[in-house]
Amino acid sequence: MIIILSTTGFFPSGYAEDMTASAKPDGALHGGAEMLLAARGQKYTTARRAIVSALAATGHPATIAELLGAAPGLPASTAYRNMTVLSEAGIVIRIGGTDEFARFELSEELSGQHHHHIVCTDCGLVLDTSSSPGLEDALAEAVRGVVQAGGFEITGHRLELVGRCTSCQ
Ligand SMILES: [Zn+2]
Ligand SMILES: [Zn+2]
Repeated sequence: MIIILSTTGFFPSGYAEDMTASAKPDGALHGGAEMLLAARGQKYTTARRAIVSALAATGHPATIAELLGAAPGLPASTAYRNMTVLSEAGIVIRIGGTDEFARFELSEELSGQHHHHIVCTDCGLVLDTSSSPGLEDALAEAVRGVVQAGGFEITGHRLELVGRCTSCQ
């Protein structure tokens, strides 16, 4: 088990016990994305909207190749640049996997869903896993005792479970 402490990305509003039921309606998702981009002087273009829709539909952290497959109208030539813009605006976050492919998902700020990840050490598949109030409380308690370097103000956590997926077992 790897626990990555981070200074961003903790939004206590969403425990994501039922991730589909708590998912934001499309309108709220796109409205939120548009506002975050506008705050950086960026436009919510058709391609950026297509990426956000594809990420919302995929249901797990996706590679650029997966997104291009899910959104056939998305121009591959601009996908990487748009992903960078979306990432800088806090709409998308990059998930570090165990293979060479970067995976992306909607930020918790945008989705309102605090959750954790399960990573396959063989093929690199990353799946979302829900948290629970009990687990969140236990982690918060455990983190209080962590000897930390760098004088960080801890504002959240990213929890990653590693193992082998059903295809790799
Ligand atoms: Zn696997
Ligand atoms: Zn958590």
